[in-house]
Order: sequence, then structure tokens, then C-alpha cells
Amino acid sequence: MPTPMRDIARILREHDDIAILSHENPDGDAVGSAAAMGHILARLGKRFTMANASPLPGQFSWMDIPGHWTTALPTTYGFAVALDCGDAARLGPLEHALDPARLIVIDHHLGNPGFGALNWVDTTASSTGEMVAALADELGVPLTGGLGQCLYVAMITDTGDFTFGSTRPETLELAARILRAGLDVGETNARLKNQWSLSRIRLWSEVMGGMTQHFDGRIGSIAISQETLVRTGATAEDCDGLVNWALRVRGVRAAVAVRELPDGRVKFSLRSVGDVDVQRVAASFGGGGHKNASGGSLDGPLAVAEQTLTAAVGASLGA
Ligand code: 5GP
Ligand code: MN
Repeated sequence: MPTPMRDIARILREHDDIAILSHENPDGDAVGSAAAMGHILARLGKRFTMANASPLPGQFSWMDIPGHWTTALPTTYGFAVALDCGDAARLGPLEHALDPARLIVIDHHLGNPGFGALNWVDTTASSTGEMVAALADELGVPLTGGLGQCLYVAMITDTGDFTFGSTRPETLELAARILRAGLDVGETNARLKNQWSLSRIRLWSEVMGGMTQHFDGRIGSIAISQETLVRTGATAEDCDGLVNWALRVRGVRAAVAVRELPDGRVKFSLRSVGDVDVQRVAASFGGGGHKNASGGSLDGPLAVAEQTLTAAVGASLGA
């Protein structure tokens, strides 16, 4: 058992009023690991707040979230736990209100600088949820009910339904334990996956049709302009996962997706398969993530950002 986990378990046993934080624009791992932490604390009889710079995305509103999801840090708290945040900036505006001396970091991103007073960073974990499950075991909390559901959502989000290379035997063993503890896997997946809006369908069909290929078809890129977003009525949330589809094209080893933000900056997502390391590319532009999935933001215009990133990914392919 890693030592930071034992220390974190002790702090959670001994203290109350825990602020549970996760990264802004939260994905299923951020929401799932934060809500799972809430379930653990609830079962330990502790008071806690789940705070995130962004409101809870509508696609997760069906989840068993234990208590309120707020967009501001509580005025007083004992300790804060930041989940699934590769660096402090991922907390968004909440970063500035935090006391670093009472900050615990639980994360699985490469290059995490350890921005808390106590840092548990395990880059071999396929999701932060997997780490929170280990903490639940350490604290003697069974993976039943809402806790199992939230952990499962975290796991399938970050492993691409247990298909990414980060999926370990331990990941599947944990999923099996959650199913044995009573999770309805069919119902959970139906609720998680069947969340598309018509705007999303319109956006995806248009943007996928405009996919371009580079470096002899080894890189696929997708660009989403503000004009397209406004016209289709799609939201930032509707763009989640779009980048993965460029990898579906035969021969593509890496995918680039760029999305124009309202202020003209560009949010990017990079994906790859096998040994192609897109974390290093994202980090060179101030972003981060994992070897096969990374992201960040850079200046516009959109077409220039797409070109810059495609060239950088191409260089890492040796193209
Ligand atoms: P996505 O492309 O789905 O937004 O993110 C893919 C991965 O890159 C996730 O692990 C996410 O945490 C990371 N990531 C995305 N945007 C940023 C960013 O702006 N900074 C850092 N450090 N990591 C990011
Ligand atoms: Mn994650």
C-alpha cells in the first residue's frame, strides 16, 4: 500500500469538514471520483462539500451524487482534497481561494508537480476513481450503492470502456468487485451513454464530415469553430469524445481536435495509440494529461492552432 494513501486515510478519519475538489469542466472521472469521495465520507459520518469551478454537467445529473455540488469553495473547511487535477490550474478560479498547507492531491496524471501538502500521484492508475476505490478499501467502506456507481463511471470514462492501454488486470478486478457489490451495469451504461442532444448529433455529423488527414493519413484532425457551435446549438460538453473518432479511421495513429473558445483562444485535445506520446506534445504547449490522451489551450486563430498542433504531433511520430 502506498504511504501517502495511509496518511490520507488517517487525515480523513481524524478530521471533519472536508472540501472535495475536482477539475473544471469535469469529465466522468472528475465527477465520479469526487462523488465517490463524498460517499466514503458520508459513510464515515463526516461533513463535506463537493466544490468545482463548473456546475455539474447535465449528462451526469442522473448519478447518485451525495449532496450539493457547489461552484464556490466553502468559507471554512478542515482539509481540501483535489481529485483528478494534473496541476493546480486545473482547479480554475478555486485554486486561488485554497490554503496549500491543507491541500491533499489524489491524481493519476503524468507530470503532476505535487501541488498539495500531501500528494498521492499514481500514474499507473487508469483513473482517479481507481485510487479512490483503494482508499475506500483502506477505510473499510464497501463498494456498494452510489459509491460503486460513481467509481464505475470514473473507470469507464478514463479507460474508454476498458479499451485503452491504461486498463490493467486490477482495473477489471475492481470492476468485477463493483458488479458483485450490486451495480446494475446495463442500466448504468444506458443512463451514462444515452445522453445525446439533437444539437450534438448535428455538430458531430458536420464536424466528422470535415475531418482532415495529414502525414500520409497517420494523423487525423477535427476543427470546431464558434460559428459551428452557435449554429448547431451545441455546447462544450457536446464536443466531449469527438476527438476519439478520428482514431477510428484506418491507419490513423494520432488525432488532433481543436475547438474555438468564445474569447478566440483554442482548446485542444490530442489522442494516440500505442507508443505515440501526446502528453509531451500537450506539455510543450502548457497543457498535460496522459501518454495517449492529453489536452490544453493555446492562442488562435483556429486554423493556425490546428496546423501548429498537427505539425508538433507529426514531429513526435517521426513524420
Ligand atoms: P480532454 O482532451 O478530454 O479535455 O483531456 C484529455 C486529458 O488531458 C485529460 O487527462 C485531461 O486531464 C488532460 N487535459 C485536458 N486539458 C488540459 C489542460 O488544459 N491542462 C492540463 N494540464 N491537462 C489537460
Ligand atoms: Mn482522470
